[in-house]
Amino acid sequence: MEKILNYINGSYCAPLCGEWLDNYNPSTGKVYAKIAASNSEDIEAAYQAAANAFPAWSNTTIDERSRIMLKVASLIEKNLDKLAEAESEDNGKPLSLAKSVDIPRASANFRFFGNAITQFASEAHESVGLDTMNFTLRQPLGVVGCISPWNLPLYLFTWKVAPAIAAGNTVVAKPSEVTPKTAYLLGEILTEAGLPKGVLNIVHGLGPEAGQAIVGHPKIKAISFTGGTKTGEHIARTAAPMFKKLSLELGGKNPNIIFADCDYDKMLAVTVRSSFANQGQICLCGSRIFVEAGIYEKFKTDFVERVKKLKVGYPGDETTSIGALVSKPHMEKVRSYIDLARQDGGTVLYGGETVKVTGYEDGYYLQPTIIEISDNSCRVNQEEIFGPVVSIMSFKSESEVITMANDVKYGLSATVWTGNIDRTMRVSKQLESGIVWVNTWLNRDLRTPFGGMKDSGVGREGGFEALKFFTETKNVCIKYASEE
Ligand code: NAD
Repeated sequence: MEKILNYINGSYCAPLCGEWLDNYNPSTGKVYAKIAASNSEDIEAAYQAAANAFPAWSNTTIDERSRIMLKVASLIEKNLDKLAEAESEDNGKPLSLAKSVDIPRASANFRFFGNAITQFASEAHESVGLDTMNFTLRQPLGVVGCISPWNLPLYLFTWKVAPAIAAGNTVVAKPSEVTPKTAYLLGEILTEAGLPKGVLNIVHGLGPEAGQAIVGHPKIKAISFTGGTKTGEHIARTAAPMFKKLSLELGGKNPNIIFADCDYDKMLAVTVRSSFANQGQICLCGSRIFVEAGIYEKFKTDFVERVKKLKVGYPGDETTSIGALVSKPHMEKVRSYIDLARQDGGTVLYGGETVKVTGYEDGYYLQPTIIEISDNSCRVNQEEIFGPVVSIMSFKSESEVITMANDVKYGLSATVWTGNIDRTMRVSKQLESGIVWVNTWLNRDLRTPFGGMKDSGVGREGGFEALKFFTETKNVCIKYASEE
């Protein structure tokens, strides 16, 4: 059976303990590969490789770092089909989505940060009249740790490692054990692109074992983590007493606020996508839909009608809109929330059932599900479900919907649909979320700050924010004599 090996010091290697985990294909429910179940010894080997590579890499010219990163970007593009197939097989997402979004974005991440580093500069502050000059150095941190989740596997893995190495750090990185395949394949690409050995080490294994060993390693200087809020809390507890730099991108429960004065057709089309893209397994999906009372009944009918047409099917089939959920335990968790919604008085307007796809009967397929609720405080509206499940409810006024949108522990993103510019400004300013999209969704310019408020995280990624995170800021203050 195929083996997902670690990539340490520029070579593929088996885990030192000789232990392996099962890798499931969610669209068939079958084990199709074995994953290295690394432990702290493998992390130590990866750390040593990274530490040895750091002096040379941190002194490599910006042009050279950039050149290698652009080569990685091109090779990801060249291997689009192979990587997209691997992503779809590992994650259950439609192949068309992996081809059009995940893998192009992984390439874009390397290209973006390979270019961004050539423009990253620091400030100088002259203390006029005091014969003093200050300048700011932004120096790489050393060896850093990057840990990523399963929902957008290569997309989010590269979103972390690209700025880390662009800034001159060396890295120990761990993708999710649920979807390790594309990060594994990246190793070949790094070698072909000529990335020096040890600059990026990719280690596989369970979170509490391999992930914990990265976070708890005394010499790993910073942790960039994307994943669940509970895991983020645990990571913060481990890392904070060691004074590590931490970037935490965590869960969300994002409001999608629809005012009657919006461009209705555009809103409806995008809302179907923002609800169910990637089986609803995107931290930015708008899982709480609030609709202004005047158009509520019309929206309800039209939305259900549209969602009924989404085809749940085998991810490799071109007509599939909704593939398989990532794992059996995850599907069970999502289903338990649908049961809970029913118990709490919610009405399932559409969906709620598993789907048997012919030829793939053991896969983890679930209908897109719309639940009508009347109380924002119910658990279905307060807890992250992270599947193809949305709730809808109506609101009467702007202030009422802002209160409900903010009345949740998360604060990652929000979407607002309105044709009124005054309302756009008022609402955007009051929403407690790191990102507000108005009349659009998942519209990303990689230069913009990305991240959440409240329990959705700490810090911002993207653009120079990421390069700042992965560098230590030092002020050099020089007093000079004004006369000889
Ligand atoms: P998870 O927290 O279970 O796992 C994420 C990663 O952390 C995995 O690589 C896992 O192995 C590792 N991990 C687990 N326990 C660890 C520990 N004790 N120490 C170190 N590492 C550990 O999350 P998941 O289920 O893979 O992903 C889904 C979650 O990710 C959702 O909550 C979703 O909202 C969130 N997410 C957030 C963003 C964002 O940008 N804010 C983006 C995507 C996903």
